[in-house]
Amino acid sequence: MHDFVIIGGGILGMSTAMQLKQAYPEHRMLLVEKEAGAAHHQTGHNSGVIHAGVYYTPGSLKARFCLAGNRATKAFCDAQGIAYDTCGKLLVATNDLEMQRMQALWERTAANGLEREWLSAEELHEREPNITGVGGIFVPSSGIVDFAEVTRAMAAEFQRLGGEIRYECEVTGLKERRQEVVVTTSRGEFPSRYLVSCSGLMADRVVRMLGQDPGFSICPFRGEYYRLPERHNHIVNHLIYPIPDPAMPFLGVHLTRMIDGTVTVGPNAVLAFKREGYRKRDVSLADIGGMLRDPGILKVLARNLRPGLAEMKNSLYRRGYLELVRKYCPTLTLDDLKPYPAGVRAQAVSRDGRLVDDFLFVKTPRTLNVGNAPSPAATSALPIGAHIVEQVRAQVGDERRTTAPA
Ligand SMILES: Cc1cc2nc3c(=O)[nH]c(=O)nc-3n(C[C@H](O)[C@H](O)[C@H](O)COP(=O)(O)OP(=O)(O)OC[C@H]3O[C@@H](n4cnc5c(N)ncnc54)[C@H](O)[C@@H]3O)c2cc1C
Repeated sequence: MHDFVIIGGGILGMSTAMQLKQAYPEHRMLLVEKEAGAAHHQTGHNSGVIHAGVYYTPGSLKARFCLAGNRATKAFCDAQGIAYDTCGKLLVATNDLEMQRMQALWERTAANGLEREWLSAEELHEREPNITGVGGIFVPSSGIVDFAEVTRAMAAEFQRLGGEIRYECEVTGLKERRQEVVVTTSRGEFPSRYLVSCSGLMADRVVRMLGQDPGFSICPFRGEYYRLPERHNHIVNHLIYPIPDPAMPFLGVHLTRMIDGTVTVGPNAVLAFKREGYRKRDVSLADIGGMLRDPGILKVLARNLRPGLAEMKNSLYRRGYLELVRKYCPTLTLDDLKPYPAGVRAQAVSRDGRLVDDFLFVKTPRTLNVGNAPSPAATSALPIGAHIVEQVRAQVGDERRTTAPA
């Protein structure tokens, strides 16, 4: 019997496993992952930005964990010898409306306790000669890293402490009993005292395996990127972000310097027809059927029909995509947009049709399940793992109290 089984070899599963093993070195722990290695899904298909915490509602878990995660990720990379670059981020306003929105962001960054600098058009031009705008906010603490490498280092640390990892081991069923959780997988059954699920795009399905109603469904949104040709590797000095529309804060493609020296453009946000489908042609009839039967997802799609269709159009029509980035980087041309692999975001949607904004956890007596962990969850992985360990510690404490002899 294991003390803990953890589902998911993404950054949240590995961060949690590593910190659980640090907290309980004597306990038997197993992490199961259905793919052949770590970081195959969201963790290995993202922008690689160590976010600073610009956008998030002050006091939310996202705001708290992102700020702490920014520092913790860099400290972890220092300790592990992993390359990262604190290159800073520039939010660029291109018209009067965006200048007004930028003022609101300026106040939010103050409420979130971030160091930042207000730039005039001239100062913006000095910092970024290839970027055009009427003003900007510079956030120096944003950085870049390869989150897959961070995840592999966490996995190695978990194993070094005695934790076990089984790849190609898919969880197909769960039974929570009074004294244990039985985890049925493609490679046998594993009874465990506790279970932690960090299953990303499958988060709702894992909660359902427990016989629970998660109260949300995962809606997959593909984020498509392009890579700029090598001659543009120095086109920008920082990460360049547009000022988001507060009604659609996750929309707006950015120019991202990657840790390997290349620059990407993206991601957009297009409804994916398959949860783990990275190509436009990937379709799962079961996944589509699930979305069409889900009242919350249908409401989200109906409410966001116009921006959703615009994203789809720009996904199919490269010139439309190019115009999004030419707003602030006018020298780019169609030839500059080279293919780059897409990612798929796991976004939880509530039954009443809201995109769940904050990180969300679902607890049962012997399990803790990450329900919603979109960006900036890679940046926040260390504080999220620490939060899960705290929650589990409280559950273990409760169990001791309820089972202690009178
Ligand atoms: C396009 C895009 C850009 C992003 N950019 C950033 C960014 O710049 N900065 C940032 O901080 N965040 C970013 N994010 C968000 C970040 O990547 C995710 O929040 C984070 O990786 C989530 O980690 P995870 O471990 O929860 O999920 P995942 O990495 O998806 O891992 C979940 C794992 O669970 C496994 N699993 C699922 N079901 C089962 C099962 N039944 N049995 C066994 N294993 C199972 C899966 O195979 C998978 O490996 C981005 C995300 C996307 C998609």
